[in-house]
Amino acid sequence: MKFVFEPSQIPAGVTREEWNDWAWQLRHSLKTEADFVKAGFELSREEFEGFSGGGKVFQIRTTPYYASLASKSVAMDPVRRILMPTASELAHGRQSMLDPLGEKRNNPAPRIIHRYPDRLLFLVTDTCSVYCRYCTRKHFTGQDEAFVRSADYEKALDYIRSRKGLREVILSGGDPLTLGDAVLDRVLSDLRAIDHVEIIRIGSRMPVVCPMRVTPSLARVLQKHQPVYLMTHFNHPRELTAEAAAGLRLLADHGTPMFNQLVLLNGVNNHPAIIQALSRRLLYLRVKPYYMFQCDPSEGTDHLRTSVEDSLAIQRELWGSLSGLAMPNLSLDIPDGGGKAAYVPNFEVAREGAVRKFIGWDGVEAEYVSPPPESILKPLDAETFFAEWDALKNAKA
Ligand SMILES: *Cc1c(COP(=O)(O)O)cnc(C)c1O
Ligand code: SF4
Repeated sequence: MKFVFEPSQIPAGVTREEWNDWAWQLRHSLKTEADFVKAGFELSREEFEGFSGGGKVFQIRTTPYYASLASKSVAMDPVRRILMPTASELAHGRQSMLDPLGEKRNNPAPRIIHRYPDRLLFLVTDTCSVYCRYCTRKHFTGQDEAFVRSADYEKALDYIRSRKGLREVILSGGDPLTLGDAVLDRVLSDLRAIDHVEIIRIGSRMPVVCPMRVTPSLARVLQKHQPVYLMTHFNHPRELTAEAAAGLRLLADHGTPMFNQLVLLNGVNNHPAIIQALSRRLLYLRVKPYYMFQCDPSEGTDHLRTSVEDSLAIQRELWGSLSGLAMPNLSLDIPDGGGKAAYVPNFEVAREGAVRKFIGWDGVEAEYVSPPPESILKPLDAETFFAEWDALKNAKA
């Protein structure tokens, strides 16, 4: 089956040229209650209250393009739940953490979050074009500092230079693709000049919320500094419009490998049929589904969080019915900087000595007999790779 991707609806009075210009989209962001009403939204009382209070906890902003994907009248609309503040954001949560990932503790240099030995996050900007109501980094995003100050930028680069064991730099924020091509080009050039940086990743929601950002010029900047991996953040098949698909095709044609990270959200995408549809369409557009995250307990997100049981049930349903290529890995960020915890569905139902008993996804029962530990050999050339292995493991120290 070939998928059809529908174009977004351009509002009356806006030309196609304006609509397809990302600077126009950012300049015409919807931020206030009045902006949303003007765009035709019928606000519920809950949402109304969200504007007066929620905006204090976390900025409110969306591109006209992303707003056009949301229902004007149905509050339960999935896109609307992602972008629209509600009174629930003000409720004191079960576990409300300003910094759920304990990032302030893994912050050895300005804008650097270094938790794993071989890779780190570099928060190049705190700005996003849409402030997702479930954002995990509410303590940082949306303070309007935009691009990192130059003294901090130099300190962050010095840190990356000094850690010879680093292999990978993940540009994050905020949204790095809110930066212009010239700034991005400079950041990527500076990182490429560091010998031990092998891989650069960019985490961005722009291909979702402002796909007009994906221009031929951007595609060439990423191509020039390859290998640059782009991590997209689609949560729902409705976000895959004709514009989004065109952007992804352009990037894939320029050789940019793409992976998608989604967040399971209550009343948005917490159903296996939705995740399956999203994953298959992404794979078709040459984006590999990568992570399916449990929503972090950041401030004001209780109404958007699914239960772990719900997430596990979704993941189990997908297993066996979805191509391995399209399968996202369920993962939870352990609060306070514990790193990621993977959840893999467990098909092993019993174990007796070397015999492990399984029931497969479709109910087939069988045993696997594991070879005894004393039969395990070390590969002949393992020694050759010890130095590299040790260096990676000890890199952070
Ligand atoms: C998620 C994360 C990474 C990347 O982890 P992968 O499993 O390699 O995708 C790196 N650093 C931090 C701080 C993270 O939170
Ligand atoms: S794009 Fe990412 S960083 Fe920005 S508000 Fe959304 S979740 Fe947060």
